[in-house]
Amino acid sequence: MPNASPTLLWFRADLRLSDNPALRAALARKSPIIPLFIHSPESESPWPSGSASNVWLHHSLTALEHSLQKLNAQLIIRQGDPLTILQQLAQESSADAIFWNRRYEPAIIARDTAIKSALTKSGLTVETFNAALLADPREIRNKQGKPFQVFTPFHNALLAREAPPDPLPAPSRWPESTPAIRKLESLSIADLALLPRIKWDKRIHQHWEPGERGASARLSRFCEIIADYKDARDRPSLRATSELSPHLHFGEISPRQIAHRISELVAKSSRKNETGASKFLAEIHWREFAYHLLYHFPHTTDNPLREQFNNFPWLKDKHTLRAWQAGRTGYPIVDAGMRQLWALGWMHNRVRMIVGSFLVKHLLHHWLEGAKWFWDTLVDADLANNTLGWQWIAGCGADAAPYFRIFNPTIQGEKFDPDGTYVRVWVPELTNVPAKHIHSPWTADASTLRAANIELVDSLKHPSHALLPHQYPQPIVDHSFARDRALEALSRTRSSIS
Ligand code: FAD
Repeated sequence: MPNASPTLLWFRADLRLSDNPALRAALARKSPIIPLFIHSPESESPWPSGSASNVWLHHSLTALEHSLQKLNAQLIIRQGDPLTILQQLAQESSADAIFWNRRYEPAIIARDTAIKSALTKSGLTVETFNAALLADPREIRNKQGKPFQVFTPFHNALLAREAPPDPLPAPSRWPESTPAIRKLESLSIADLALLPRIKWDKRIHQHWEPGERGASARLSRFCEIIADYKDARDRPSLRATSELSPHLHFGEISPRQIAHRISELVAKSSRKNETGASKFLAEIHWREFAYHLLYHFPHTTDNPLREQFNNFPWLKDKHTLRAWQAGRTGYPIVDAGMRQLWALGWMHNRVRMIVGSFLVKHLLHHWLEGAKWFWDTLVDADLANNTLGWQWIAGCGADAAPYFRIFNPTIQGEKFDPDGTYVRVWVPELTNVPAKHIHSPWTADASTLRAANIELVDSLKHPSHALLPHQYPQPIVDHSFARDRALEALSRTRSSIS
């Protein structure tokens, strides 16, 4: 006998209708379903979504709302304390069950555990599902029964698991609504005020299509170029990576859908595709690894995994931090990355490593300064991946880059952007600088700089001044000096670093 009481389906970081286990379970109850989104940044503290993520969220919710409308379903939007809202809505609609897909951020786990317990106590059925990962972090342990802290064995453990089941299709019909459901009040997406008042987000709109359809289109585009992924993924000018990270973060596509599509592609195509696909799958596994670490070492969002780094002599200097944020360091590859981030809300992975290394090793800023800036400016800001990325760069995390490996930003630029194409896109004042000097304009002689219409200026002397279109900063720190200073800081901490 089908159950007549409605189910509340709480959408969170799973803004999709296909391969959505909570939705599938709600449909199986064969009763009305109330799709719901609760905007509750306070309950996500200390890491509520940043500004760029909010822009994405606005558009992703709009896309989800459209998809639901096509099925004659209305997304209910509320704002405030999730437990209070869920209790109110259950009462208003006579719902007897609440389903959601799990999130793994520490503050959200604590919040959701309390919510689940309170709702269950009040007699509601609560079911939660894994929609975000190939493997729930609790399912995987190393041979000693402990969480992994090294990527390769973790990756092998994932590869050894059975292939995940096929992704679930999106529903073609939505269950009939009820008069009580039709009367439920909802805010509009605009009421959430997620978009900025000053319109800095124009380029974000041009570059991305948030939502399930945009995610699927990105994956299709990527399948066409996957054969080149292994060789081209480190070249920021080539757009050779999938650019799926914001779609994955907001759950507009699942890793299971990606893995499934990739394995279908490999099954019917060339050896080269296979190489690209296995490298790509390894990157998806880095994301799984990041979630594994976040779940098992939740303090790492704000503290180093390797405790010795608590005593590292980080510097505080608002001028160099500001120069880094604004893309005015005088190192073209660093500045290009920081400006790409500001314009698109996204930065190429290789360049994330270069700018990150520059911040923590050349400028000796605390990695959390970088993590917080990325958090606010990335459309793919993701607590698991961002924490892993910054701790890796700083040398204080799991399987991290050794501290003494200090990227030389000039050499990195020459290696991964040899003709300066990427730099010329994002640092247009350097357009006419010859390739030989594009990653080190300070090495060009006066006549070369004059011919390229460039004047190098000491931007730290007047940090708040806007530079003129033909001006570019001299390096804000000398590479050799910075390298020696970082190694010296390391040697002071070395006694406690294994
Ligand atoms: P692809 O190369 O196409 O990879 C496919 C997917 O695999 C990505 O979308 C992502 O989900 C995952 N992935 C790839 N590389 C990594 C990695 N190193 N660690 C974890 N997952 C990975 N990624 C985020 O999604 N959000 C962040 O906030 C974030 N912050 C970072 C901060 C730093 C300092 C660094 C070095 C890396 C960070 N990354 C972050 C990881 C990586 O840079 C991005 O996932 C990647 O650039 C996204 O582009 P893509 O989708 O084209 O990647």
